[in-house]
Amino acid sequence: MSIFTVCAENACVACGEVHRFELDSGYALAFQQGFILWHDRGVLIQDALPFLTAGQREILMTGVSEECWDALFADEDEDLGDE
Ligand SMILES: [Zn+2]
Repeated sequence: MSIFTVCAENACVACGEVHRFELDSGYALAFQQGFILWHDRGVLIQDALPFLTAGQREILMTGVSEECWDALFADEDEDLGDE
């Protein structure tokens, strides 16, 4: 089974990395077509790219991964301790 890698357009605001994820190459054509629909034609991403996970869509839309969102919000809750 072969795969291809999708990179975010923007660096993550949480960690500064450009996040990426991998898809089965069977999705390559559907991804290209769906990406154009969403990115250039304004179709909702969940309609254009329904086979992506919520986390993968988030990387495309904002550049921030699910793990980084969790880290962003977890920090506020947990690191303040006993001030
Ligand atoms: Zn990140």
